[in-house]
Amino acid sequence: MSTQVAVKPQLQPALADGSGLYDLIIIGGGPAGLTAAIYAGRNRLRTLIVEKLVLGGQASNAFFIENYPGFPGGISGQDLEKKMTEQAARLGLQVIWGTAGQLEAKGKKEFAVGVDGRTVRGKAVIVATGTENRKLNIPGEAEFRGRGVSYCATCDGAFYKNKNVVVVGGGNSAIEEALYLTRFAAKVSLVHRRDQLRADKVLAERATAHPKIYFFWHATLEEIKGDKFVKEAILKDVATGKRLIVPADGVFVYIGSRPGSDPVKAAVKLDEQGYIITDDKMKTSAEGIFAAGDVRQKSLRQIVTAAGDGAVAAESAREFIEN
Ligand code: NAP
Repeated sequence: MSTQVAVKPQLQPALADGSGLYDLIIIGGGPAGLTAAIYAGRNRLRTLIVEKLVLGGQASNAFFIENYPGFPGGISGQDLEKKMTEQAARLGLQVIWGTAGQLEAKGKKEFAVGVDGRTVRGKAVIVATGTENRKLNIPGEAEFRGRGVSYCATCDGAFYKNKNVVVVGGGNSAIEEALYLTRFAAKVSLVHRRDQLRADKVLAERATAHPKIYFFWHATLEEIKGDKFVKEAILKDVATGKRLIVPADGVFVYIGSRPGSDPVKAAVKLDEQGYIITDDKMKTSAEGIFAAGDVRQKSLRQIVTAAGDGAVAAESAREFIEN
């Protein structure tokens, strides 16, 4: 069966063996998936990445990455993605664009996954689907999405020149993006449900010292109001229950993420939060299925650890395919 493979212009054309059975299918083209593709490519595995949105994953939305080794002055998420993609492309990476459905085992060394109506098959699979942003599920959030509510400051921040924005969350993402938004906004109100930030100390120090960032501690966002666009954020003081109206043109939500383990939820063991359980060789509970990056149960979710996982998973997949 032939499989239609869409390839970005800078990537090499499809390998023409006609079998349609790849050595390795990688679901997800973020730092874990791209690194796995680089390692697999160096071992001449015929590799296909399934990606629904953009190569580089959530990391490519990061305005500036300061903790990836080798870039002492930092690097933008987009530039890092471009470099990883180019490196994988030189080794023959192919990409099929679309959303992966449920992964199915068809035989001892054959897996199939539907991608928007098409089916791709591989001898082994690496799941590198990462995580997606969690939602607050409060009134106004869905209604004003794209009209003031955003989950990506790098994408939308420039629309808020001299405006008031609210950022919800206290982790690395919330603080990094609040700092980024100070480039445009007149005022950034940071709403956090505790009085201590979860973010790395260096970021916390930078944010608390920033003249444009105002903290609402012990506070939750209860409702987003507006007309055509967002106008107000309604906060609640969790200690007193008192409600507070904050004028806001934009609301950026960074309250963590949920794993993208849906394509394998029936096939491999997950923990209670839905993260994929692996051993230190990135093997899941199912033979021939490996997981890498943020989607797996782990202690530190960073680009550098995702890349490390991808390398290990590709090597384990090679061993599985060859033995
Ligand atoms: P996170 O570390 O899980 O932080 C989520 C934040 O949102 C926490 O402060 C949490 O409060 C708050 N929160 C959760 N649910 C909430 C709710 N329903 N209402 C209000 N607040 C809520 O998530 P993240 O910042 O997206 O980061 C995800 C992972 O990526 C982390 O491992 C992080 O270190 C990593 N990351 C790293 C970098 C970097 O190193 N440059 C950048 C971005 C992300 P509590 O603190 O009270 O739980």
